[in-house]
Amino acid sequence: EKANIGVVGLAAMGAALSRNLARNGNTVAVFNRSSWRTDELIKEHGEEGKFIPAHTLEEFVNSLEKPRTVIIMVKAGAPTEAFIQKLADLFEPGDIIIDGGNTYFKDTMRREKEMAERGIHFVGCGISGGEQGALLGPSMMPGGPEESWKKLGPIFESIAAKAEDGSPCVTHIGENGAGHFVKMVHNGIEYADMQLIAESYDLLRRGLGLSPAEIADIFDEWNKTELNSYLIEITAEVLHHVDEKTGKPFIDIIKDQAQMKGTGTWTVQTALDLPVPVSAIAEAVFARGLSERVEQREEAQKNILAGPTPHVELSDEEKKAFIEDVRHALYASKIIAYAQGFDEISEGARQYNWTIDLGAVARIWRAGCIIRAQFLNRISDAYDSGEITSSLVFNPYFKKSLEEAQNSWRNVVAKAALGGIPVPAFSSCLSYYDALRSDRLPAALIQGQRDLFGAHTYGRVDKPGVFHTLWAEDGQHEVEETR
Ligand code: NDP
Repeated sequence: EKANIGVVGLAAMGAALSRNLARNGNTVAVFNRSSWRTDELIKEHGEEGKFIPAHTLEEFVNSLEKPRTVIIMVKAGAPTEAFIQKLADLFEPGDIIIDGGNTYFKDTMRREKEMAERGIHFVGCGISGGEQGALLGPSMMPGGPEESWKKLGPIFESIAAKAEDGSPCVTHIGENGAGHFVKMVHNGIEYADMQLIAESYDLLRRGLGLSPAEIADIFDEWNKTELNSYLIEITAEVLHHVDEKTGKPFIDIIKDQAQMKGTGTWTVQTALDLPVPVSAIAEAVFARGLSERVEQREEAQKNILAGPTPHVELSDEEKKAFIEDVRHALYASKIIAYAQGFDEISEGARQYNWTIDLGAVARIWRAGCIIRAQFLNRISDAYDSGEITSSLVFNPYFKKSLEEAQNSWRNVVAKAALGGIPVPAFSSCLSYYDALRSDRLPAALIQGQRDLFGAHTYGRVDKPGVFHTLWAEDGQHEVEETR
C-alpha cells in the first residue's frame, strides 16, 4: 500500500500533524533528516494509524501514491527552501508540495511560480493552533492552485478543527500566496487582540489595584460574554497561575519583555505598502518593541520621567462600573482591530488578484486557531449577509456595538491618560473610530503645508482638478494655478 500523503520534518509540528493525519484515516509517509525522530514517532505512536516510515528521501518519495502529496514542516527559511528543491527534483508534473510553515507570502508567490514552470503544484498553507492544534485539529489556510484543492480538500477537511456547527476550519483561500497572506494577517490580529487584553489587565492591576487572582476571576466572567474566546480563557489561566518556587503570582515573575518572531511585523510592513491603516496591529507590534528597549526603560527608571504614579482616579463605588467600562472598551477596540485586519486582507486580495471570501476566512478562524472566538460568528454572519459595505464597522451589529460601548471607551482612554497608564492600542482604536466619523479631517492642513513647501498640489472642495498655489516668500499667496 502506498501513502496518500507524506510529511517531511517530524519535530513538534510535523509529528503532531502526521499523527492527526494517520488518526483520521490517511496513510502517512514520514521522513525526517535525523532518522531518530522518524523511529521515535513510529515507536511511540505507530499504532495510532497507518504510517510508512522512510529513512531516505528517495524511499519516502517512492512510498507515495500519485499525484504525490507532501507537507513540509521543517525549520522556516533555508531548510524549507532546500527540501522544496530536493522534492521537486524527485517529483513529476501534477505532484503537490505543501509548505506548512509561516512563510512570507511573497516567497510563496515566487516559489509557486517556479514550481508551476516545472508542472508541480505548490501550496503555501498557513497552519494555526501550535502543536496542540496540529494534533487535535488546526485552522488551515491553504493557497496555491485551485486544482490542487481537489486532492487536498478531503485530506485537510479530515484533520482540521471543527467549528461548533461541525464544519471543518479549512477552505481554499485563493491562488499562490493567498493562504500565507491570510495566515500572516491572522497573526497580526492576534498581536492586536493580545495587546488589548494586556492593556485591560494593566488598567485593572495598576489602575484599580486589583490582584492577579481577582483579575483572573474578572476574565473568567468576561469569557461568558461576547468576549468569549481562547485568548480571554488563557489570560485567566495565566493570571490564576501561582509560581511554585516563590509562591508569587506567576505573572509577577515573568520578565516584562514581549518577544516576536516576525509575522506581526510583516503584517504592518505589508499594510504600509498596500497602503491600508492597521493602527491597532502597528501599536501592538510597537508596544512589544518598546517593552524590549531595556536600556531606555532602565534609564527612564533612573531619571523617573515626571508624571502621575499610575492609577485610575475613582471612588470605591465607581470601581465596579469602571471594570465594565474596560470590558466595553476592549470589545469596541477588538472590533476595530479585526475590521482593520479584514481591510488588509481585502486590499491584499485586490493588489495580488486573489478572490478571497472574507466570510469564509472568519468561519475557518472559529476553531483551531489562536484567535478563535464566538465573535467570529458575528463577522462571518456580517459578510455572508452582504450588509458590509466598505468596512466591518458599518455592519449594523458592529455599528451598534461600537455606539453602545462608546461612552465607556472614552472614559477608559481619558482616565488612563490622566492616571499615567499607557493604552496605545485602546487609544489608537478610539482615534481610528473618531477619524472615520469626522466630516472634515485636518488632512486639509497637511495638504496646504505640502503645497507650500514642496508644490505637491491639492484638490479643492468646490471644483474638480489638481491645484497649486504660488506662495509668495512673505507667506501671502499670489495666484492659484491648475495643474
Ligand atoms: P522547528 O522549526 O524547530 O524545526 C525542526 C525541524 O526542522 C526538524 O525536523 C529538523 O530536522 C528540521 N531541520 C532543521 N534544520 C534543518 C536543515 N538544515 N536541514 C534539514 N532539516 C532541518 O520545528 P517546528 O515543528 O516547531 O516547526 C516546523 C514549521 O512549522 C516551522 O516552519 C514553523 O514556522 C511552523 N509552525 C510552527 C508552529 C509552532 O507552534 N511551533 C505553528 C505553526 C507553524 P532534524 O530533526 O534533523 O534536526
